[in-house]
Amino acid sequence: MHVAVVGAGIIGVTTAHALRQQGFEVTVIDRRGGVAQEGSFANAGVLAPAYVGPWAQPGMPSKVLAYLFKREAPVVFRPRLDPALWRWLRRWLGECAVERFRVNRERMQRLAYYSRRCLHEVRERHGIDYEQGQGYLQLFRSAHELERTAPARDMLREAGVPHQLLDAAACRALEPALAGQAPLAGGLHLPEDETGNCAVFARRLKDICEADGVRFRFGAEALRFEAAAGRIESLQLADGRVRADAYVVAAGADSGRLLAPLAIDLPLLPVKGYSATVTITRHEHAPQLAVMDETYKVAITRFGQRLRAAGTAEVGSRGMKLREAALRTLLKVARDWFPAAASYAQARFWVGARPMLPDGPPILGGTAYPNLFLNLGHGSTGWAMACGSARIVADLIGGRAPEIDLDGLTLDRYGPPHAALRQAQDEA
Ligand SMILES: Cc1cc2nc3c(=O)[nH]c(=O)nc-3n(C[C@H](O)[C@H](O)[C@H](O)COP(=O)(O)OP(=O)(O)OC[C@H]3O[C@@H](n4cnc5c(N)ncnc54)[C@H](O)[C@@H]3O)c2cc1C
Repeated sequence: MHVAVVGAGIIGVTTAHALRQQGFEVTVIDRRGGVAQEGSFANAGVLAPAYVGPWAQPGMPSKVLAYLFKREAPVVFRPRLDPALWRWLRRWLGECAVERFRVNRERMQRLAYYSRRCLHEVRERHGIDYEQGQGYLQLFRSAHELERTAPARDMLREAGVPHQLLDAAACRALEPALAGQAPLAGGLHLPEDETGNCAVFARRLKDICEADGVRFRFGAEALRFEAAAGRIESLQLADGRVRADAYVVAAGADSGRLLAPLAIDLPLLPVKGYSATVTITRHEHAPQLAVMDETYKVAITRFGQRLRAAGTAEVGSRGMKLREAALRTLLKVARDWFPAAASYAQARFWVGARPMLPDGPPILGGTAYPNLFLNLGHGSTGWAMACGSARIVADLIGGRAPEIDLDGLTLDRYGPPHAALRQAQDEA
């Protein structure tokens, strides 16, 4: 059975690998010249299942409003006349209620914990080195912020996740590279959390897939699916056509364009974020642990000889231009904590889009078309959910029962239009 996967970001590449492991013939199609060149290119690399959760959460709407008037805001909202944006926001606001937040977080964490297990299996099977790091330290600049971690710590305790609340001195003892100048009230250490270079992993996995017979077609823009008698017949490319027995859409933030003509109308919004990567010049001043500045919501991660600061969520922006103020914030935070680690003037900047659904969890699995499958909408934690999502989609295509409960992780939660389409097709 031949499966065509649209998209060679982390989601598409892991999907291709999982499908090949199950014996499928696989073709991956991407408009770019290689794997992980869009949203998966230079992300923060954090793999922290206990911290995977929706952005739609209680208190978030008022925070976003307050950020509107701040210069160095972690969340930027650009209102414009776009019905899709306002539809997304309306649903997002509804998902901020505490009971919706709990439901969505449980769904995402179920997938993220499973995904970590799948990632470890892939890593061990192939011996992939993707510049992994162990341990995550959240930093709080004020006592007030530190106090507000109480509910999160209760949640970690209930879930049995090892963690430790540290005062400033203990943070510095744990990560001696932390500089003394920035105000530090304390931190929360999560020793089991991991980091890894998402793009490096995607490239290694692509080589493994290719050696195992997976075909990659780069520079190939997918234009539209052609459907007949309720099935997908082919995929029209800018320069040709692909015919397969089944198709997976893993096209990140742009997936909606391929799906809308099939009456699969998803509120998928590109939420922009930035990173700055520098080469470490003074190792004794560079961190070993990944840290997260909770005031600015900027993560600082070490990948081998490089340090990366990543963050900022920009909702409603058009285009993928770099925004000066966001880059300045990243560099400020990196300099505050690790001023002597690198020459920040040499930073390489990146902007990427998180493929964000308003409620948080991605959409995995089937559609009303029996040979069309989705693996999309992974938002701000797609790297942390990739290997598990891929295995689930491969299991569903292969007719196997996935290893975890899929409640709330499928297209069904976007409800009536899809159910109606499915019914119409069943009747046809
Ligand atoms: C600043 C930032 C920091 C982040 N930090 C983390 C983190 O610490 N941990 C974490 O887990 N996640 C993080 N993320 C989120 C993570 O990067 C994304 O969730 C993930 O990369 C999404 O992967 P994807 O494969 O769905 O999308 P992408 O990587 O964008 O891949 C989609 C692919 O589809 C291709 N494509 C699209 N349309 C077409 C078409 N019509 N024809 C052909 N090809 C097409 C594109 O070229 C692209 O290669 C971060 C994101 C950002 C922006």
